[in-house]
Amino acid sequence: MQNSTTEPMDASKPFCPNAACSARGKIGQGNRRIHDRKRQRYRCTRCKQTFRARQGTMLEGLRKPTELIVIVVTLLAYGCPVQAIVHAFGLDERTVASWGDRAGQHCEQVHHHFVAQGQLDLVHVQADEIRVKGRQMIVWMGLAMMVSTRLWLAGMVSAHRDRRLADRLLHQVRTCSRPLQALLLCTDGWAAYPGSIQRAFREKVKRTAGRGRACLQVWSELCIATVIKRTEKKRVVEVTRKMTRGRWNKQASCCKLHWEAVFSIPPLLSGSMGPCGSGWLLSRAHVVMRLSVWRGWKAECI
Ligand SMILES: [Zn+2]
Repeated sequence: MQNSTTEPMDASKPFCPNAACSARGKIGQGNRRIHDRKRQRYRCTRCKQTFRARQGTMLEGLRKPTELIVIVVTLLAYGCPVQAIVHAFGLDERTVASWGDRAGQHCEQVHHHFVAQGQLDLVHVQADEIRVKGRQMIVWMGLAMMVSTRLWLAGMVSAHRDRRLADRLLHQVRTCSRPLQALLLCTDGWAAYPGSIQRAFREKVKRTAGRGRACLQVWSELCIATVIKRTEKKRVVEVTRKMTRGRWNKQASCCKLHWEAVFSIPPLLSGSMGPCGSGWLLSRAHVVMRLSVWRGWKAECI
């Protein structure tokens, strides 16, 4: 694998990152030219500024080839041990760790820009948390995801499994959701969830005319479902499903929306929620599955 940053350049793909330029963020305007192949710089014909090819990406300032960095970050994301990457690619352990950090920071920025803008019609969200054993420490990791798209909405790490962890996790979910939408949240039996969900999904409502404080009211179409698994000798022997908030009719209509939304890809989601006899079968299959992917990755990163 090559060990330099001299890579093929394509002036049609990047856009001008200059905040003062009228062509900022626009692709295919024909305003970018290759300025310097050796130093990997483009030039914007609109604002006459030059820019690095990797500017604004997680690759900015790195000297290794893009292909190598993408492979390493992908392996990290799928739980490959850092030592295996170090030996396979001849990299320093600190380099691999810093690439992981860079990727995480960049993904966080992308998440805030595209996901946490309060524009998603979530319909159905699953949330769960796991206990993580790291090096001389134990932390809790919470995750929430949108079921129909499997989009990660929120992730949180905390030293304690307390109300604050649930509040922060659900607040992140709230920042992604369009206000006052019909929403079904499926969680495990942790007692902190119902309160945190209701604190996150409420709006200020002014009940009386004139001066006075507005009260906070929980979204009317918010439903909370709880799925509790009882295990014996590490085997699930009983599953209890109940609606913690919301009437069955509301939940059914919410599920129906969800089911119709995902009906085009039933093999992916039929195990999550679907018709079961005369009702609807609730599960937390997606978020549990995704947390199991984290299980192998967490000890390396914490
Ligand atoms: Zn420009």
